Amino acid sequence: MNPKRKSMIFIIDTSAILSGKPINLDNAMMITTSSVYNELKPGGRDYQTLQFLIEKGLSINSPSQDSIEKIKIISSKTGDLNRLSEADMDILALALDINKADNKEAVILTDDYSIQNVAYTLNIKFESISQKGIAKRFIWSRRCLGCGKNFKENLKTCPICGSATKSIVSNRGNIRKKGRDDR
Ligand SMILES: [Zn+2]
Repeated sequence: MNPKRKSMIFIIDTSAILSGKPINLDNAMMITTSSVYNELKPGGRDYQTLQFLIEKGLSINSPSQDSIEKIKIISSKTGDLNRLSEADMDILALALDINKADNKEAVILTDDYSIQNVAYTLNIKFESISQKGIAKRFIWSRRCLGCGKNFKENLKTCPICGSATKSIVSNRGNIRKKGRDDR
């Protein structure tokens, strides 16, 4: 017997709409958050894209507070917290809510690397619209410009020598192999 197939639910974020690329998901369920909806000002081309998607069946929902809290905790661990807008966090939290159902699976459509990074960490599926997506998992950390020490914490000033720090990417690892090995 085949295991029951999960129905895919595509979560559309702001970057997917702003990409201007056609989002062709006939017969697929599409959802976005009210915060994404509110980010787009009426009248512009992006707002028209949004209206078009709503005509195609895009629904608008809000995530649970529990899931938002979880996203805040995880994204502070990966160093993405300061890179995520409230709308970004809502997108990720909505994916967590959807994945709680046994028969549904969320796929986030986004070009935002921080959303992709947190999604990867939480085992949430994502697809990139205009870019190829991140090939590596990355964790942000900070490096002191004075003594060169690295910190996992988001420290603006080095606690050892007092110099300023800058964001760096550390701890890379493969997310998925690209292409075929025989090419
Ligand atoms: Zn230092």
